[in-house]
Amino acid sequence: MPRANRHYIPGYAFIGAGAVVTRNVPDHALVVGNPGKSIGWMCQCGERLTEDLGCLVCKKGYRRSDTGLEELEKEGGNGE
Ligand SMILES: [Zn+2]
Repeated sequence: MPRANRHYIPGYAFIGAGAVVTRNVPDHALVVGNPGKSIGWMCQCGERLTEDLGCLVCKKGYRRSDTGLEELEKEGGNGE
């Protein structure tokens, strides 16, 4: 059984060392540089997502949302 506290973390984003971020960062964005620029997307597990927003490591999938990316819901329950 997975640990019960492995919830999705709102606002999850990765900021590269030295990145200067002057505005809100999209969820799951990978941001580097000055000014901060989004160069890709990161999985909740810390792996970079493929171009179709899938993770090769933990097999999670994501889709675009108003705030960046959101994790695709698995069928069969809400997890609570
Ligand atoms: Zn992953």
